[in-house]
Order: sequence, then structure tokens, then C-alpha cells
Amino acid sequence: MTEFLNDISTNTVSDVSNAMGRLEINRSALAHNYETMSQKSGTARTAAVVKANAYGLGLENVIPTLISHGCEAFFVANLVEAISLRQHAPKADIYIFNGYTGEDIDVFKSEKIFPCLNSLHQLILWQTECQKLGVALPACLNIDTGFNRLGLCEADILTLSETNDLWNGWTLNLIMSHLACADTPTHPMNQAQRERFLNMTAMLPPAPRSLANSAGVLLGADFHFDLTRCGISLYGGAPQSTDTALESVVSLYGYILQIKEVSKGDTVGYGAAYIVQSEQKIAIVSVGYADGFLRSTGHAHPPYALAHINGHPTPIIGRISMDLLAIDITSIEDQIEPGTMVELLGKTSLIDAVASQAGTISYELLTGLGNRYKRICL
Ligand SMILES: *Cc1c(COP(=O)(O)O)cnc(C)c1O
Repeated sequence: MTEFLNDISTNTVSDVSNAMGRLEINRSALAHNYETMSQKSGTARTAAVVKANAYGLGLENVIPTLISHGCEAFFVANLVEAISLRQHAPKADIYIFNGYTGEDIDVFKSEKIFPCLNSLHQLILWQTECQKLGVALPACLNIDTGFNRLGLCEADILTLSETNDLWNGWTLNLIMSHLACADTPTHPMNQAQRERFLNMTAMLPPAPRSLANSAGVLLGADFHFDLTRCGISLYGGAPQSTDTALESVVSLYGYILQIKEVSKGDTVGYGAAYIVQSEQKIAIVSVGYADGFLRSTGHAHPPYALAHINGHPTPIIGRISMDLLAIDITSIEDQIEPGTMVELLGKTSLIDAVASQAGTISYELLTGLGNRYKRICL
């Protein structure tokens, strides 16, 4: 007993239980994806977007790999994320998408963090604080070319181009904008935004320019400019449905806790929503919606989302519970027993396919994966 307690105290809590999910992060696949996107970015530098704790994968699990494969610039959402990132990336350029909202400017100076200024309001705040500090700190300008989310509008650009005073006291180190429809290459928004980007940047002082996210990179050289900003592609999500050059980075496994035989007329799970049509063997797996495996992934009728055991598809049937889900293993001939690992996301259960079954996108699935897993870096 004391030995067991010693074990617990020296291990992390997640080491002591098999009855939970296992999340693997494959760093060689991450490196492959970064190199692939760098190659596709042509002469542009490739920055990594690591907001939301690197899309849920964990900064500590991805930053060293990205840096050792040549990544020198990172984007996060806010200052808190930027400060955590700085601990893993002592030398890199770090940009904050949400811009400057009046935080202590000394932190930006000492940690060398660049805000993406999104409005004249933010720009003037930044300028005022830089002037108080007496240091012309660098910042990026985010311009709105049609997305209508963050960014300076055309009228702001005009004001900026006509008001010399607004340029005093700080320095410009990047101009960026964001594409709304890059995942649909034929969408007319792409060309329209690119043209607006060219026109608006022509009214500003020369600076490196950045327009493309992952999907934007695949739109071709016209969209690359000086710096590309890749997020989902690094983590194995396909930026456009046609892209196959990327490798799966995240694998999520649950363990079978129990196996049972059910017959015609039986039901499975909450709401008795899934009705058994004929003799079936089902397995109960140790992952549920509290683990970020979304409740909307479970269906009462085909088409079902597919989990996999040793590459064999096993439909996820009925409603997903908080900690559990059910799969149909009737067609599997391999020996299956409690403890058998079930792939819920990975090389065969592709994140884009599972997300689509849940009515969402890989981004939401990845950023929602919970804290109950054993996280393992390969
Ligand atoms: C999240 C984000 C990105 C990265 O987009 P991906 O589609 O994940 O490559 C790039 N730019 C901005 C402004 C973003 O918000």
C-alpha cells in the first residue's frame, strides 16, 4: 500500500489510471507539416499560429519542434498567451492578434512582443504609451480587406496616409490582413481581398506584408507576400479538402471498459436513441464529451462517425455520454477485450472527418480537447 502511494506521489495523476483517454502528439508529423507549408510558402517566411495553447496541443509540445525546424515568428491571441510563449521561444518574433488594449507597455518592451494594431484607437493608445516610455516600439498594422472582424478600414488607412503625426513615436514592422474564404479557392472574395490588400498597403509606408493563413498558402504565390501565418495545417487539419500532403499530428485513443451483446429491439445509451436492428456486439469506451469528444459526434442513425481498432472501422453509435461512448464492434474479427485501444482521432479516424460528423471543423475539435488525457509526445 505504501509502495502504491509512493508511486502516486512520484507520478502525475494521469499515470495511475488506464480508464481514461490517451492523447498522442506526433512531433515528427508536426515537423513534416511545418516543412511542407514552408515549401508551399515559396520565398515567404512561414510563421506559426499558436493561439489557444497551440490549438489545444500545448505550447511546450510544439514550440521546440517548430523552432528547430526554422520557425522564427509566432502569432497568439493576447498578451497572456504571448508571455507563456516567450518562455518557450526566447528569441522569436511574437505577435498578438488582439492588438494593444492598454496593458503595461513595459511588458511589451521587456518581452519584445509586437501587437497587431487593429484600429486607430489601438494605434493611438500604443503611440501614447510609447511616447511616455520614450521608446519607439515596433508594431504590426492589421488592415481589414473585407472580413469585417478586426482591422483598420479603408477610411482609417486614408486618415493614416494623410496624418503624419500618427506615425510618430512608434515603428511599423509588418502589415497583415486575414482572408475570409481561403478554404474555398474559387470564391471571388479571395481575389477581391488580395486586390484591396495591394491598394491599401500602397497607401502605407513600405513594410513586410502578410495575408495568407494555411488555406491562403494553397491559393498560390500571389497570396504569399513576405510572411505566411499557418495554424491548422501544422496540426494536421486539411486547410482545403483537396490537400493530402499533411500528416496527422494528434491521435486520440480511448480504452474499452466493457463489451456486451445486444439484440433486436434493445436500445443503447441516453434517450434510448439508438435502436438495435439485429444481434450486435458493442463496446463501451473511456472517452466522452467532457474530454472534448463532442456530443454531436454521436448519431442514432447512419452515417455514423467512425472510430477504428487496428485500422478496422467501428461506428460510434447512439448518444455520447460525459465520460463514455459506445462503438459497434460486430464486424471485427480480431480479439477484442477490455483494455483494447480504440482510435477516436488519428491516421484512420481523420480529424476533419470526425469534426464534420459532429457538425463542426477540426479547429473547434482540437481546441476543445480536454485535460483528462494522458498526453504523450512522440
Ligand atoms: C487563426 C488565424 C490564422 C491561422 O489560420 P489557420 O487557418 O489555422 O492556418 C491566421 N491569421 C489569423 C488572423 C488568425 O486569426
